[in-house]
Amino acid sequence: MPHAVTLIPGDGVGPELTEAARRVIDSSGAEIAWETQQAGVAVMEQEGTPLPDRVLDSIRRNKVALKGPITTPRGGGIRSVNVALRKRLDLYTCLRPCKHYPGVRTRFEGVDLVVVRENTEDLYAGVEFEEGTAEAKQVIGLAGGRIRDDAAISIKPISAFGSERIVEFAFRYALENGRRKVTAVAKDNIMKATDGLFYRTAREVAKRYESKVEYDEWLVDAMCMQLVQKPELYDVLVLPNLYGDILSDLCAGLVGGLGVAPGANIGDEVAVFEAIHGSAPKYAGQNKVNPTALILSGVLMLRHLGESKAADRVEQAVAAVIAEGKSVTYDLKPTRDDPTAVGTREMGEAIVARLLS
Ligand code: NAD
Repeated sequence: MPHAVTLIPGDGVGPELTEAARRVIDSSGAEIAWETQQAGVAVMEQEGTPLPDRVLDSIRRNKVALKGPITTPRGGGIRSVNVALRKRLDLYTCLRPCKHYPGVRTRFEGVDLVVVRENTEDLYAGVEFEEGTAEAKQVIGLAGGRIRDDAAISIKPISAFGSERIVEFAFRYALENGRRKVTAVAKDNIMKATDGLFYRTAREVAKRYESKVEYDEWLVDAMCMQLVQKPELYDVLVLPNLYGDILSDLCAGLVGGLGVAPGANIGDEVAVFEAIHGSAPKYAGQNKVNPTALILSGVLMLRHLGESKAADRVEQAVAAVIAEGKSVTYDLKPTRDDPTAVGTREMGEAIVARLLS
């Protein structure tokens, strides 16, 4: 039985990248029945929304989607299709493996980290009051003189429920993927209520995995320094939303940047696999940008589907093409204007050729 997967080409460079990724995955040995669903700027005019219900219905039905980047339309309606998808499908985990592949230019060799970021709470919950509003004044009243009268306010909710499920995900991921350690990262010396709850919950979850997976804690500022000095000491990091957003970009930078950084948004019911990068509109339709990040997101998807052999084969083929350094896009060449750089399609084809050889 083939796996039914929703394919969202997205916009900007999305369609070129998803086409390359689809061809690679179709050559991996795994059987996938793709169901293509358009979303984003392209459908906005016809359907009045960049995220029609048919897209959500398809993902709910198939439980798995591979998604190209989607431009966030300016003004009105849904603020971001990407955020709306995460909220409406309760995709509470943002999983971002950051692994260095030989041949990718970076200041660090051999980094292999996994960032597990909580996706629904924290300062990103969207509970905000502009300065001078009645709600802002109410909160200022509650704070008893600790907030200036002309302050705007963003609320930082961190729940025991939200912390428990994200830390549980991190430990389960560590166990299932042969990882040795989970590090919880927050800042409870300052945010004793919210970040204190995050760490307390993490310690409780860690007890369930004692003797199987190590556990330690770092403050987020110290962790940033650790990561740029000794990234090899860390393995799986679990963080609340805001710190997770910042550290996952830092870790992507450690291993070579946006072109090679895959990701996944995962809930209890469904999972959406996508690269970290956006729709890079200035390169749209130019057959130029690097398909690696989306193809490696496809590798995560194959593992999620239980197709670990196919996943290993694709990862090895990607690694081999990058290590050879011949059929790679401009961003993987020694200089950005290297005339030997190939396009998105050609890099995808080189990976397919490795898979079929
Ligand atoms: P971006 O990631 O699209 O592009 C920034 C720059 O990074 C590009 O100009 C390019 O130089 C480089 N880059 C990106 N992807 C690359 C690739 N695959 N290969 C090589 N180089 C690559 O970021 P942006 O310009 O800030 O955002 C553009 C649009 O994408 C915005 O509308 C934003 O909202 C949206 N966005 C969508 C998602 C998503 O769909 N999950 C994520 C981030 C941004």
